Amino acid sequence: MTEFVVLKNLQPQPELVRENIKKDPGFGKYFTDHMAHIRYTIDDGWQAHEVKPYGPLVLDPAAAVFHYAQEIFEGLKAYRHADGSVWTFRPERNAARINRSAERLALPQLSEEDFINSLKALVSLDQAWVPTPESEADESSLYLRPFMIATERFLGVRASHEVDYYVIASPAGPYFAGGIKPLSIWLSTTLKRAGAGGTGFAKCGGNYASSLVPTNEAAAKGCQQVLFTDAEENKYIDELGGMNLMLVTKDGKLLTPGLSDTILDGVTRRSLLDLAPQLGLEPVERKIEVEEWREGAASGEIVEAFACGTAAVITPISKLVSEDFTIDHGETAGEKTMELRKTLLDIQYGRAEDTNNWLVRLA
Ligand SMILES: *Cc1c(COP(=O)(O)O)cnc(C)c1O
Repeated sequence: MTEFVVLKNLQPQPELVRENIKKDPGFGKYFTDHMAHIRYTIDDGWQAHEVKPYGPLVLDPAAAVFHYAQEIFEGLKAYRHADGSVWTFRPERNAARINRSAERLALPQLSEEDFINSLKALVSLDQAWVPTPESEADESSLYLRPFMIATERFLGVRASHEVDYYVIASPAGPYFAGGIKPLSIWLSTTLKRAGAGGTGFAKCGGNYASSLVPTNEAAAKGCQQVLFTDAEENKYIDELGGMNLMLVTKDGKLLTPGLSDTILDGVTRRSLLDLAPQLGLEPVERKIEVEEWREGAASGEIVEAFACGTAAVITPISKLVSEDFTIDHGETAGEKTMELRKTLLDIQYGRAEDTNNWLVRLA
């Protein structure tokens, strides 16, 4: 195993500052004292594994990432259990996914070992930054953000010969500070985030850049998120651009669009499909038309809708709003939605037995 060399931050945040941040960290605003780093060159492969003080990067203005968006990332969390130990959830899935993203963005493959060890090396050093939940409702954690960028100084258009991989970590408070609040979603019919053969399935910054304008459009319509449909027929549900979408039917099905090259293969999505049977739900992955959702909600066939992803776990959906119609599931979170949410969180926070061996200890 390649060891990560540790260069300690000689000026870490004072304990008092750190403890105050952990009391109300919000999301993505504060960062721990260190970051993990591995450097890649086409000649030498991955090398120089290190954990070093968190701080600005010095990059050449001609670095490829600034010009051609050769960048990918991951997102997962470290959870503190009641006994003080720190765990993460199915990181081998994130390792596999960063490699699928890397393949599509012409970035180098990173071994699962390097990926998971980078998390362990960083979190074990910065474990004091992992919040300790005060109650079951306190969904605080340390959010981990691995990312890979093309750093070769070269304006020619080809895959970069130099790449840097980093992991940074940010304490995160409960996503819903004032209790769970269902989302209103805007149906984007003109702007798309992904097309067949494109990068929709890859976790890359470019997909997010193209979803910002539709998200502004949603905000102008009083909605917090956007639902994207397929680019060809403008008919089928893809996802929300940062979260996957699921529907619950009256007869006990957990419905979600089947994976395609326009949908991100979410770890939360996969885990909920895996957990569904133990809650009496039959997981179904297939194409779903927006029209099917509309008719099903009207007839009472589709009873719940929610979004899922690592950051917010599960977020109930109250409404889908479009130019022509509104689907209304009401402001109360669905029963199955909340059962699934609790089942997943109980595993992640170590309150329920991890019968699937999904947890990996980081510290
Ligand atoms: C990360 C992400 C998700 C959710 O994936 P999880 O692994 O569950 O966090 C969904 N959609 C997009 C576009 C994403 O980038």
